[in-house]
Amino acid sequence: MSDARCRHGFAATAEHPRGALAGLGALLLPPEAGGPSSQQLAGVLGGYLRRTPHPVGPAVRAVAGALDGAARLLDGDRLVDLDLATRERMLDRLASSPRTELLLDGLKALVLLTHGADAFADELLDRAGRDVPARPDAAMTVVPSTQLAATVRTDVVVVGSGAGGAMAARQLAAAGLEVLVVEEGRRFGVEDFRTTHPLERWTAMYRDAGTTAAVGNPPVVLPLGRGVGGTTLVNSGTSFRTPDRVLGRWRDRHGVDLADAAGFSGLLDEVERTIATAPVPADVMGRNGELTLVGAERLGWSSGPLVRNAPGCGGCCQCALGCPRNAKYGVHLNALPQACELGARIVSEARVTRVLHDGGRVTGVLARRPDGSALRIEAPRVVVACGTTETPPLLMRSGLGGHRQLGRNLALHPAVGASARFAEPVTSWVGVLQSAQVDQFHASDGIMLEATAMPPGMGSIGMPGYGRALVAELDRAEHYASLGAMIADAPAGSVRRIGGRTLIRYQLTRTDGHRLLRAIALMGRVLLAAGGDEVVTGLPGQPPVTDVEELDRVLADADPRRLHLTAFHPTGTARMGADAQRSPVDERGRLRGAEGLWVADGSVVPSCPEVNPQVTIMALALGIADGIVAHG
Ligand SMILES: Cc1cc2nc3c(=O)[nH]c(=O)nc-3n(C[C@H](O)[C@H](O)[C@H](O)COP(=O)(O)OP(=O)(O)OC[C@H]3O[C@@H](n4cnc5c(N)ncnc54)[C@H](O)[C@@H]3O)c2cc1C
Ligand code: SF4
Repeated sequence: MSDARCRHGFAATAEHPRGALAGLGALLLPPEAGGPSSQQLAGVLGGYLRRTPHPVGPAVRAVAGALDGAARLLDGDRLVDLDLATRERMLDRLASSPRTELLLDGLKALVLLTHGADAFADELLDRAGRDVPARPDAAMTVVPSTQLAATVRTDVVVVGSGAGGAMAARQLAAAGLEVLVVEEGRRFGVEDFRTTHPLERWTAMYRDAGTTAAVGNPPVVLPLGRGVGGTTLVNSGTSFRTPDRVLGRWRDRHGVDLADAAGFSGLLDEVERTIATAPVPADVMGRNGELTLVGAERLGWSSGPLVRNAPGCGGCCQCALGCPRNAKYGVHLNALPQACELGARIVSEARVTRVLHDGGRVTGVLARRPDGSALRIEAPRVVVACGTTETPPLLMRSGLGGHRQLGRNLALHPAVGASARFAEPVTSWVGVLQSAQVDQFHASDGIMLEATAMPPGMGSIGMPGYGRALVAELDRAEHYASLGAMIADAPAGSVRRIGGRTLIRYQLTRTDGHRLLRAIALMGRVLLAAGGDEVVTGLPGQPPVTDVEELDRVLADADPRRLHLTAFHPTGTARMGADAQRSPVDERGRLRGAEGLWVADGSVVPSCPEVNPQVTIMALALGIADGIVAHG
């Protein structure tokens, strides 16, 4: 597929004007009703699909091709050539069956995400270009892997440079150890975030171009960051301390002494100092957050601005694409440069394929470079911090996956969204992306509501309807406010290696499914109390509701297995604990059955932390690294 054009560096593909992707565009966003040019939309979608890993792109093209084929079979014309009424009949048929509706919603999300990001690219980049960065990029010793000799030696290798890896690296370097951090992704800088098309950023900074998902009923979309700084590059900056009740559970039920609230609070303090947390200031909160607080206040529910690590935030709502002001203070701006100042080096663009060991004693790691060559790093200590979904597969393919619980106990802190249309313009994409919390039901029910918008244009994926109705809603996008809700879930998933590939599974429990429906009910109440005219519940096939009675009626009949779920906080697949049978990693972070190997990322978190987890993961990593220094 050749490139059609380059806009802000995003290469769209030259799709056939009457091809299957153009047909898909015409079906979902009909140009006759004011939708975009189907060919242009097809080119942008094609460009995105080209960047997705096998088999996502071919699969989407195959489904679009099947729809096009069905149109030809039934009506004798290509999908793009059918008249609007015939396409609408086709949409009705697809939306009326649960099986095809799930497929249709998946295609709709892709079309709206890519079209919305492209349509708003100029506005987003203009805004990014106008803002003066709060700080320059930090000085770091980052060496692209191809510039290293084939074999190097060091005292300790840290695999992964995200929340956990960065904090561990800094602590180890501070103790005088020679540290090499190995990161699969590349280094991104503020100029990337100020000048690059949003879709280019999305596909470069997320694993699998943002298409990672857990298989289950329902499936769960699971975005994961990849780059120097890990997922902190793209996260929303929300910074919660681990609740004491959760720490108590980890200490008492899992035997994790590190989680003793008195000692752990020192680690949390240190994390907060390092990443500079503070409540969202009123002047960048944005209308989306303000309306959330208004709704909660009218209901008498506990709420407030979120605490974030973003000193100098200008409220441009692009956190999920990298911060163009360098305000969001991810670990690429603090812990990693601090580690480098203490002598650590970061090797970028090297995927560690195996941890090397001899008779159970770790001897280093083997990594693959972009040119296919091998990089061997010899070290007596290895800290694995690849993230919850990548750490178990690395240990398994290294022959260190013997513990029966490794890869199990995956908790996701699953999330649902709801939005509401207001008479006033809300312009949710002006202001902080994640700005305010409603924590009234957090301790009692494990449900946390957070005012969450999407980067400019991308929020359209939550719009209701298809076809003509969808185009009409896109025209009113400015009037929508949106909320997200996360629930403290039971561990219900796993990460496995099957046929050389990683398979993530997650089967929502019945209890958690109903908790998610309750979360939608709570979000709907906040939005209605804030003055929303119509609430979009996100439940498939359900029209917007206008009052609480209707909301409850719709939810009473809803099936949790048809929810559209996303999760941003996977944890637990190598949980730490004192019980050798239950926990693959001991209470000090050491992988059982290996010598010289520690794990220090989201995978060691013993159970769902019930809050956005970056601070918890960082504090655990600090504690584990302190243990390495103290005990060797
Ligand atoms: C969109 C989004 C928004 C979020 N918002 C928030 C928020 O507001 N607040 C919050 O607390 N949490 C948030 N999170 C979650 C939080 O950022 C993560 O939980 C946290 O960063 C996980 O830390 P980690 O060290 O386990 O892994 P990561 O930070 O994901 O780091 C793992 C690193 O390891 C690298 N790696 C993986 N495999 C290999 C390999 N084989 N070789 C070399 N390198 C490898 C990866 O490329 C990655 O850079 C968000 C997540 C997402 C996706
Ligand atoms: S809203 Fe996010 S991306 Fe925008 S300036 Fe603030 S932290 Fe950065």
